[in-house]
Amino acid sequence: MKLCRFDDDRLGVVLGGEVVDVSAAVRRLPIPRWPLPFGDPLFGNLEALRPELERLSRSGVRKTLSDVKLKSPVATPSKLMAAPVNYRAHQAEAIADPAINFGSDIKTIEHYGMFLKSPSGLVGPSEGVCLPAADRRMDHEVELALVIGKSGFQIPRRKARDYIAGYSIGLDMTVRGAEDRSWRKSFDTFAVLGPWFVTADEIADPNGLDFWLKVNGEVRQSANTRALIFDVDRLIEYASGAYALHPGDVIMTGTPEGVGPVVPGDVMDCYVEGIGHMSVPVRLRTAR
Ligand code: MN
Repeated sequence: MKLCRFDDDRLGVVLGGEVVDVSAAVRRLPIPRWPLPFGDPLFGNLEALRPELERLSRSGVRKTLSDVKLKSPVATPSKLMAAPVNYRAHQAEAIADPAINFGSDIKTIEHYGMFLKSPSGLVGPSEGVCLPAADRRMDHEVELALVIGKSGFQIPRRKARDYIAGYSIGLDMTVRGAEDRSWRKSFDTFAVLGPWFVTADEIADPNGLDFWLKVNGEVRQSANTRALIFDVDRLIEYASGAYALHPGDVIMTGTPEGVGPVVPGDVMDCYVEGIGHMSVPVRLRTAR
C-alpha cells in the first residue's frame, strides 16, 4: 500500500495516477494529551488501521495525483537519523573533491557512526527545498529512507525488518563546508521525504534497489542500495544501539556518488525502485 499526506493534511492511498482520500481512518488514532508522545502515531498503528484503509480506498473521493500537493508522509518524527559516507564510490569522490571534503580526511560510516538531522527541517516534494541566499555550495543527496513502525532498542540485524513500517525517497540536502554535519544538513527544508510512503510488504529486498536523481533532466546520481556499506539491517542495529527507535522515526541510508550543487530554479527528479518518482523544486528563501 502506498500512503501519502496531501493538500490540507489529508491522508491518501495512492492507486496508479490517483489519490483516494482515506482521511476518515485517522479518527481511529488515539488522541494524545500533553505531554505529546514522541513520534508519528500513524506508523505505530498502521497494522491496526490497515483494514479500514483498504475499505476506505475502495469508496473514498479520488483526485488525480498531479492535482494534489504532496507533503512529507511522516508528519512528526522524533528523529531523522542519517548515514554519513555509506557508499565507497561517494567516499572516493569526496576524497577527490576539495569542494566536498574541505580539507578533512574523508572516512566512512564505520568511522563516523551516524548523525541526526533536525525533524523540523522535514518537508514533502510539493513544498520543495528553499535555499537561503548564501555564497555556499548546497548539494543534493538522494537516499533510500526507512520509516520505523514500532519502538525498539538494541535491535539485532536479524530482527531489523520487523521494525520497518516501510520506505520513502529521501533527500538529505547539505551545505558543503567545514561545519558539523548536524548544522550543514538541518536547515529548514533540508530533509525531503516523499512522494509517499510504501508499506514494507511491497519491497522484498531494500538492499537491492536501483535509484537515481536528475537535476533539470540530467542524471547526476544513479546507484543500487546493494552497494551500501552498512545495509538497511545493519543501520537499524547500529542506530538502535544508541537510541530507542520510535514509530515514524526516519533513517536516511546514505547517498551514493554523484552529489552536486543545486541553485534556485532547479528541479530535482528522484526515483527509487518499488517506490516511484518525485519531483522537487529548488527555490530561494527570503526573510519574512
Ligand atoms: Mn546523506
